[in-house]
Order: sequence, then structure tokens, then C-alpha cells
Amino acid sequence: MDITDRSVVRAPDFPLDPNNLPFGRTFSPNMFLMDYDEERGWHNPRIVPFGPLSLSPATMVFHYGQEIFEGLKAFRHPDGSVHIFRPDRNAARFNRSARRMSMPEIPESVQLEAMRALVAVDREWVPPTPGALYIRPTMIATQESLGVSPSTQYLYFIITGPTGPYFRTAGKTLRIMIARDWVRAAPGGTGAAKTGGNYAASLLARKIARDHGCAEALWLDAVERRHVEEVGAMNIMFVLDGVVTTPPTSGTILEGVTRESIGVLCKELGIPFVQRAIHIEEIIQGLEAGDCTEVFGCGTAAVVAPVGELVDILPDGSERVYKVGDGSEGPVARKLREVLTGIQFGTHPDTHGWLVRV
Ligand code: PMP
Repeated sequence: MDITDRSVVRAPDFPLDPNNLPFGRTFSPNMFLMDYDEERGWHNPRIVPFGPLSLSPATMVFHYGQEIFEGLKAFRHPDGSVHIFRPDRNAARFNRSARRMSMPEIPESVQLEAMRALVAVDREWVPPTPGALYIRPTMIATQESLGVSPSTQYLYFIITGPTGPYFRTAGKTLRIMIARDWVRAAPGGTGAAKTGGNYAASLLARKIARDHGCAEALWLDAVERRHVEEVGAMNIMFVLDGVVTTPPTSGTILEGVTRESIGVLCKELGIPFVQRAIHIEEIIQGLEAGDCTEVFGCGTAAVVAPVGELVDILPDGSERVYKVGDGSEGPVARKLREVLTGIQFGTHPDTHGWLVRV
């Protein structure tokens, strides 16, 4: 791919203090753009200064939500080198999302080259440990039309930005609300695609969760409202009778790269790991009986985020709280986070070839 490079060189004029970098608020000086139309396919790959896009109000993405995105990170190692974590998995998921949303795929090699080229020009913006450079590839429908049909034109863009911990309560455990009254994704729907509409539809429950002092909502299945699915922007795992247990990827949850990586690490560390349907009642009983010893979310932004309390909001607005262990981080979550972040930050050997050097 011949990328036109009109990037600007600008180092951050503020200290990249990972503890003072709220998620997704600071952006690197450059962005990658590439266009698609039916005649030319993907064309005009370019790196240009980060800035506004100019789009007609009739642009299809504004009306019918044909949009997909990804989220991954680049890390700075102690020797100063910069590495992206498993970009091939995100590129593959991007194409699965594209298929579901009737959008054109982008060859994985093209996505990887675009990410590497962009991170390379803005490498000064990769903060030190425990920060990272968050990478946000996105595709939007750009045809100017109000007809309900797949767009004939698209824009692919990548923006990046230095980030610190996702949850401001870093170091503490999370309170998570069980979402009994709302549904995130139904069988046959778009739950496994990383598309904006899934997130828009989740915001109301998240707001109610926040009103009750919870960080996120825990989603249940749409049909029986009993099976645990996932959390806001994380997959969910339970330590049940010593087994790391997580719901299967049955089409209604996002196939998380962190989730998959943790499965591999569990095997390597000799920690039993299973994917199976999990009833919320099984968890509640397990918490009360002491068989469920840990609950943690996992995702690119949050890495491994221990949950200290699950909360049910009762019809009268009162709360029923189920405590996880003593409410602090458990040993399994801690071990998995240490190994995973060790690989990412270059202090633990990358035996799986998960890092792609920029
Ligand atoms: N579920 C949802 C809904 C998410 O948005 C994310 C974050 N991408 C995840 C799970 C975790 O996926 P990953 O480990 O690939 O970041």
C-alpha cells in the first residue's frame, strides 16, 4: 500500500503522565484516512493532521448508523520500542463486524499496515507504563442519501490517543448492576459486531447503573433474561469452584481479544478455564455460598477489572448487594492481569507472538 504521508511532527507539550490521562480525551496529532467506492474499492490511503471531517448532513451514517469500530493498544517497552497487542485479531473482528453491517471488508494486511504507519508517525505519543496508546479504527457509511440501503461509499479512519487506566477507580474493585429490565443484544442481532448502535442502546441502563453508584451494567440474555452475557465494554469472567468460567461467544456478545488471550494464559498457567452458559442465579447462589470467589471484567481498555459487588435494583428502587469475596481483588484476577500486562509492557516474555513491533 502506498500511503500518502502529510503527517505533522508534534511531540506532546505536556507530560504523558499515565495517571492523569482520562480514557479517550486526548488525541495524537495525526490520523489515517482511506476511501471506498464501488468503482475503485479501497483507495487513497493517507496520513493527515488530526482534524474535523466535513460531511453532508445527508451522509448515511448519521441516519441509519452504518458504522463499525475497533479498539486496541500500543505499548512502550522499557527499551523505548513500541508494540501493538494482537492487531491481527482486531483486524479480523473488524471484518466480521463489516460483514454483519453490510460494509466492505478491508484486507487484514492493509489494516495492519495502516495502524503501524500511523503509530510510527505518532510514536512520541505512546505514554510510559502503565499507560498505552489507544488505537481506534473506524468505518462509516459516507454516501449522501436518505434511502435505507447499504451505502456505496465509506470512509475508514484511524485515530489514536495516549491513555491511562479506563476506570478512574483504578486499584479498586467495581460495583456492577445486573441489568434486569433492558437487553443489549438478541439472537440474530448485532451483539457480536462492534457497531455504535449497540453502545447507544446500552447507555440508558448504564446511566441507571451510574445513578446507583455502579460503573457498568451486567447484561443478561434477551430470551430468558437469565444467562450472563457481558458488561459495558468488557467480557465477564467468574471464578466458580476454582474454574475461570465465562459465557460462550454465541453471537450476542463481543468476541473479546482480551477474553481470548486470558483463555490462552489460563491454560499456560494451569488455571482451569471453561466457556459455558452461566445463570445469574448460579452466580448469586455461588457468591452467597462462597463457591464463586472472584468476578472480573476483561477488555482492551480495562484490561482485567475486578468486580467487588453485584447489585440488583429492586422494583421499589432499593438495592440488593451481593458481595464478591471480601470485596477486594482476588488472586486469579491479579495473576492474570500481571501476566497479561507483563507481556504488553515487555517485562514478561511474549511466547505467543502477540506483539507487533512498530
Ligand atoms: N465487550 C464489549 C461490548 C466491548 O466493547 C469490549 C471492548 N472492545 C469487550 C467486550 C472486550 O473486547 P476486547 O478484549 O477485544 O477489548
